Amino acid sequence: MNDRYNKLLQYNISGLGCWGSLILIAVVWASLGFKWIVSSFLIVTALLFILPVIAVWGFQWWLKRKLTQAQCPVCNYEFTGFKNTEFNCPNCGEALQVEGDSFSRMTLPGTIDVDAVEVPSANVLEEGN
Ligand SMILES: [Zn+2]
Repeated sequence: MNDRYNKLLQYNISGLGCWGSLILIAVVWASLGFKWIVSSFLIVTALLFILPVIAVWGFQWWLKRKLTQAQCPVCNYEFTGFKNTEFNCPNCGEALQVEGDSFSRMTLPGTIDVDAVEVPSANVLEEGN
């Protein structure tokens, strides 16, 4: 009887020890998990604040690379145009393109600008003579 009782007691004690260690592990896990949850929550919150800033900043940087603010060579109206694209002056409707940091008139296909420039100068010369 005594032997059995001792064994039962030993089992109970070891069981308690097991529960105690389980609780200890649970507490450590909970604290670690809580810390992890808090840190991940902070990281996510920080990212939620930082990502839009980075996105806006990146978009503005990208726009600055893509956009050029200059004056229309025809009417001197200052506006912003996309690089590597053809667009029309919002003021006079002249077809323009970006050349370096300024706008230049589009040479329409089949039209030679030199001829259009030379004709008035020839007229001027003829009028002068
Ligand atoms: Zn214009």
